[in-house]
Amino acid sequence: MTHRYDAVIVGAGPAGSTCALRLSRAGANVLLVDRARFPRDKPCGGAVTRRAALNLPCDVSPVVEDVVTVADLVGADGTLRARESTAPIAYMTQRLRLDHYLVEQAAAAGVDVRDGVGRVTLDGPATTAVIDGERYHADVLIGADGANGTAAQSLRLGEIRATGIALEGNLPRTAADVSRYEGRAVVDFGVMRGGYGWIFPKADHINVGVGGWLSQGTQLRGCLEQFCRRYGLPFDRLESIRGHRLPMKVPRATVARGRTCVIGDAAGLVDPLTGDGMYECFVSAELAMQQTIAVLNGDASDLHAYQDSLDRRLRSHHWASWVLKRAFDRFPQTTYRVATSPQVWSVIRDLLTGELPDFESAAGRRLPLRLIGTLAARAKAASEPTLALERS
Ligand SMILES: Cc1cc2nc3c(=O)[nH]c(=O)nc-3n(C[C@H](O)[C@H](O)[C@H](O)COP(=O)(O)OP(=O)(O)OC[C@H]3O[C@@H](n4cnc5c(N)ncnc54)[C@H](O)[C@@H]3O)c2cc1C
Repeated sequence: MTHRYDAVIVGAGPAGSTCALRLSRAGANVLLVDRARFPRDKPCGGAVTRRAALNLPCDVSPVVEDVVTVADLVGADGTLRARESTAPIAYMTQRLRLDHYLVEQAAAAGVDVRDGVGRVTLDGPATTAVIDGERYHADVLIGADGANGTAAQSLRLGEIRATGIALEGNLPRTAADVSRYEGRAVVDFGVMRGGYGWIFPKADHINVGVGGWLSQGTQLRGCLEQFCRRYGLPFDRLESIRGHRLPMKVPRATVARGRTCVIGDAAGLVDPLTGDGMYECFVSAELAMQQTIAVLNGDASDLHAYQDSLDRRLRSHHWASWVLKRAFDRFPQTTYRVATSPQVWSVIRDLLTGELPDFESAAGRRLPLRLIGTLAARAKAASEPTLALERS
């Protein structure tokens, strides 16, 4: 027997659950499947930037454990510049709780949620999913199965340009005095070339992590240990240490074909500079939902327009991130000084808080843009393709 849905979404992380929630609210009949059983954890700093929160289809406050308004930005030479914001920079959550909450919101909106499923096989041209031997036919198939998923490959979508990797763990408040981190996030660019370390405050612990390029994966554990030592944190008390990939797509990678598409990490949408991906999850989920509704209403024959709307929405944002990322790789100290200068920080802050919708909207701010433009030109002239375009 074949089951019938308007949309089948594979993967119930922030991308899949919010897409399902939005579709269901718009009247679609949605099946959301995940191989994990919720609540499940996902290696992540759990920082939902305000820009990301503004793109959520529901209130995130029930799972927020701290609100960050100060960023302690540390350069490779140990210089610390505290940069403040009147609006929250990020809401601190734990993915164990955030993802479960979002799945619950989707279920409450009428989504048919099935977690703990076994084998999932996708047939793109037939928009059919076979889940544990049962056939599910849909008008639209959406791949949201993250960095390690197989949907993009099965649907021949989401060409990846570069892959980062990060390792993180939780330090309970009982293991050290971590009260000084309340309301502030440490981002330290001295951990490894091309990467950074972070300390994020949570209710009963702090989250400590390091990330860099995939080829630096074997160094991450040592870097995390060193990073802890530098901040006087007992590495041997870190709990649940785990790593995960950060996929970054080529600029015009195909993210939609026929009536199939990929969203979130499955589409390789992680920000190359910050390594965060939840903003991109929520944005891609909304844009995919809009085009799915157009298909279901008979206003469009396929999801092609999702490709264009996603490119338009993220293009300038990801361009600016690649520029700064490449500059950080090549000239860490100069880029640190420029990025933390009051003028450039004001642009970065307003992007993170969502006050500026995208990098293009900063067009009126001539000085910071000139500084970033100069960095871009210098980094391009001296770029090291192995670092800037590292493939998975
Ligand atoms: C260490 C680390 C720290 C990070 N910190 C931040 C941060 O602080 N802020 C931020 O915004 N971003 C951060 N990111 C990035 C962020 O975690 C990802 O961008 C985000 O999780 C992507 O969400 P997603 O829904 O696309 O995929 P995921 O969250 O990975 O969810 C994918 C889901 O698909 C399921 N799945 C996989 N394969 C299958 C299958 N075959 N069948 C069925 N289900 C399947 C999985 O079980 C999973 O539940 C971090 C990443 C890492 C690695």
